[in-house]
Amino acid sequence: MPILDCHQVPAQVPDNFASVLPVEDVEHTPLQPFCWDGTCDCHEDDEAIAAVYQAVEDGLLTPDEATDFVLGRLL
Ligand SMILES: [Zn+2]
Repeated sequence: MPILDCHQVPAQVPDNFASVLPVEDVEHTPLQPFCWDGTCDCHEDDEAIAAVYQAVEDGLLTPDEATDFVLGRLL
């Protein structure tokens, strides 16, 4: 009859775990195509930016809100 080992050491999480996450793991969704990362390519995404400007045209966003949105400040 095996005895459960109650002295197991919890898995160690490397100190640099967060810094090794690939950029692709940053959240981008249809509703929030822009992330908080100012160096991310999403802020250069013409299609996503065009959609934001369309929302301004439609009166859904003010120009100021659109700018903040593209810069990821509305998160
Ligand atoms: Zn991004």
